[in-house]
Amino acid sequence: MALDVALPQVHTLPIDQMLQARLASFDPEMEDAEADNAFYIADLGEVYRQHLRWKALLPRIEPFFAMKCNPDPMVMRLLASLGAGFDCASKNEIQSVLNMGVDPSRIIYANPCKQNSFVKYAYTNQVRMMTFDNAEELHKIKRFHPEAQLVLRILTDDSKSLCKLGLKFGAPLDTTGFLLATAQELGLDVIGVSFHVGSGCFDANAFGEAVIRARRVFDQAREYGYEFNFLDVGGGFPSAHVTEGITFEKVATILGPTVDALFGPEVRVIAEPGRYYVGSAFTLATQVIARRTIVRDLAEAFTAEQSQSPSHMYYINDGMYGSFNCIMFDHQVCEPKVLVKDNAFTYKQAVVEPHGYASVWGPTCDSIDCISPKSSLPLMETGDWLYFENMGAYTITAASQFNGFRKSEILYTTSEQEVSLHF
Ligand code: PLP
Repeated sequence: MALDVALPQVHTLPIDQMLQARLASFDPEMEDAEADNAFYIADLGEVYRQHLRWKALLPRIEPFFAMKCNPDPMVMRLLASLGAGFDCASKNEIQSVLNMGVDPSRIIYANPCKQNSFVKYAYTNQVRMMTFDNAEELHKIKRFHPEAQLVLRILTDDSKSLCKLGLKFGAPLDTTGFLLATAQELGLDVIGVSFHVGSGCFDANAFGEAVIRARRVFDQAREYGYEFNFLDVGGGFPSAHVTEGITFEKVATILGPTVDALFGPEVRVIAEPGRYYVGSAFTLATQVIARRTIVRDLAEAFTAEQSQSPSHMYYINDGMYGSFNCIMFDHQVCEPKVLVKDNAFTYKQAVVEPHGYASVWGPTCDSIDCISPKSSLPLMETGDWLYFENMGAYTITAASQFNGFRKSEILYTTSEQEVSLHF
């Protein structure tokens, strides 16, 4: 890639050693400017491995990374240099991809409801592929981007997904005829079909069923004079840490052969994976900034119920308004793990005896800011550290700075040497 800005350093240490190194260099007695802030460690090697896995298991389907999931500049650069395309939802997202030197043909503007000026921006910058699912959007596109290559987003069954995108987007199949007729009247170029089975999909069959629906719309399009040659199978692919229920292997085993059976080689097939690429690549380390011991009625202290309820509340320096917005927006369950401090101020990932139950809270003054209502933890002190794995998807991207808390910084490492060749 052409480098126009100084890039952050990419280390080659495993994540646990990165955590140790960062924390070992931190002296709590020094007035170092906020060295005790929460921080991420991003393993770009994990992103690279996910890409290789995709290429091996779904070689026909071109990944267009859904950057909404995590627009981290290093992840984006790596994926750009690996030849991935990008799914963008706004002008700013398109702009940041173009600024990396990526050709506009490697972008799909995959937001069925777009702002006029953003459509104009796409036109001016030769971004041609874009999705639609309603007639009003077709009129808008006719006006601002008559040369667009349109992709009809259809509604599919998203009942087996955590985030049901069908509530908002997707044309039901009994409306696609009308939409194709409208596009034809307007003289617009519709090239194919897209769908999204829902983010956090937990049933691999949903992909196969959606492809079958897409085939029906391909056939229907001929009645309106369109010969489709483009299929976009959307997102919803599981992250590498998801091992129960759905796996990427299971999806690939259903999706690949269904696509091959129903679509000839003249059809270009793309996908819009988001969490698949980044979910497992980011680990977040947070400091315990305060602790509250819950005062109990001694007479009741030893009832079974009491011993099961949290004895402490820990407050950490990233929360629901920051990285942990994924709990609210993405239905995530975030389990704290412990980094134990030893006398030499070095830290290690450790298996420690739980002290009992505790709740874990973010740093803001809002009571919604709860990360875990009940976790089994050892007795922690203010200044100790907790970490959270699998924090790469839908975390920092939607983090706010509410109450003046800054977004957590990102440090980079790679568990795959080859990654350094891509920067
Ligand atoms: N494509 C579109 C249009 C989306 O809205 C989303 C997520 O909301 C994605 C792709 C990425 O989904 P996922 O992260 O589940 O792969």
